[in-house]
Amino acid sequence: MNKEIIVAGGGAAGMCAAIYAARNGAKVSIIEKNSCLGKKLSMTGNGRCNLTNLDMREEYYNASARGRMKEWLSTYGVEDVISFFKSLGVVIKSEDGYIYPVSGQAMSVVNALENEIKRLGVTVNFGEQVKAVKCLDGGRVRLSSNKAEYEADAVILSMGALSGAKSTMSTGDGYYICKNIGMSVKDTYPALVGFKVADGEIMPSAGVRATAEVSFILGTEVIAKEYGEIQLSSDGISGIPVMQASREVIRFVEDKKPIFAVIDFFPDYDESDFKALKSDMLRLKDDRSLEEFLQGFANSGITDMVLGRMKLGRKMKMKNISVSMADCILDNYRNLKIAIDSSYGYQASQVTTGGVSLGDIGSDFSCKGAPGVYCVGELLDVDGRCGGYNLQFAWTSGSIAGCAASL
Ligand SMILES: Cc1cc2nc3c(=O)[nH]c(=O)nc-3n(C[C@H](O)[C@H](O)[C@H](O)COP(=O)(O)OP(=O)(O)OC[C@H]3O[C@@H](n4cnc5c(N)ncnc54)[C@H](O)[C@@H]3O)c2cc1C
Repeated sequence: MNKEIIVAGGGAAGMCAAIYAARNGAKVSIIEKNSCLGKKLSMTGNGRCNLTNLDMREEYYNASARGRMKEWLSTYGVEDVISFFKSLGVVIKSEDGYIYPVSGQAMSVVNALENEIKRLGVTVNFGEQVKAVKCLDGGRVRLSSNKAEYEADAVILSMGALSGAKSTMSTGDGYYICKNIGMSVKDTYPALVGFKVADGEIMPSAGVRATAEVSFILGTEVIAKEYGEIQLSSDGISGIPVMQASREVIRFVEDKKPIFAVIDFFPDYDESDFKALKSDMLRLKDDRSLEEFLQGFANSGITDMVLGRMKLGRKMKMKNISVSMADCILDNYRNLKIAIDSSYGYQASQVTTGGVSLGDIGSDFSCKGAPGVYCVGELLDVDGRCGGYNLQFAWTSGSIAGCAASL
């Protein structure tokens, strides 16, 4: 007999689960709190949707998930995602291994998934909030929403987590629903997020982008180090390298540990380049201003920060620069130390770290101790780097659970 399956949450993982279950012949319905499917998906990759990445490794996921990701990615990996989207008519392209739809529009991915959902006869209830699930004697599962009660052979919980703009409806409902059926939920934190700097830090008044190496340190320990284009604003630091590092750093920041970002704006320069720069500085014994000299090699916003910290005027004459001043100026460009205050929070974050413990999850994403219930996507304690890794997990978990629930 065909299985009856309810998918709670129509985001990336839920839509994928619904399609695989329905393709296997199950009678599937989706209950979605929002007024549309895939709201967050439509915002991914700056509106372009970075679907996955050809450079797929388990070490790009959080340490507690890596062992499991190896197994899951071997069951449903990058090639499977590419074939799946081909089957939906989505033509993809690789940009240095980062996989996007050729359309350049995340909405085309959402539409393709939604069209397949309609084609397969999956029913979708919009504006309905799932509140609880209960395992019944005889193997069925009861699902209660704000509107009705349902029974099904299986329920797939795919309600996402806490990250993303308000309109994505990411309010972490899945956590209390899972806790109520005896599952453990690890503490959550926003990740792939920028940081606000501590009061009193001198920052550029206008936004600055620069290719740099950024290390996050606690005392003498380097918690994370990344390279790429960072963004500095009047109140914080962000950009891909900061977001990547945030997954390691966030717990310390939230625990109010004294975390500093140390930025090297010249990671490609070696000692001899700096020696040459320093002797140039000291050679110029004339009326040229410090500003004039520095603008030749550094971004003016960064120079403002460096000079502001040293309380040096831009108009200072090069003939008055001492050896120790030159050392200090150059050291600031290479080791600019900024105290971190807090993150920009869940709404500015791309993913939530923590969530439903993988110890409670079987290899097919079934919930141990709750027969007939499956958990997928960001609701679980799985988070990956920027670059398509979080959507890969949504497709992997959704497809495996959708197939398993329909058997
Ligand atoms: C701005 C931004 C950009 C991103 N870009 C990328 C990218 O390019 N590549 C990448 O890999 N990852 C990206 N991510 C991360 C990625 O979007 C998520 O990891 C992924 O969407 C998680 O899928 P999900 O289905 O688990 O959760 P979601 O996509 O959040 O879906 C959950 C669904 O459940 C619904 N829901 C919630 N509670 C209930 C309830 N009680 N009842 C019924 N329905 C409910 C929600 O309305 C939502 O539709 C980005 C995230 C953000 C915020």
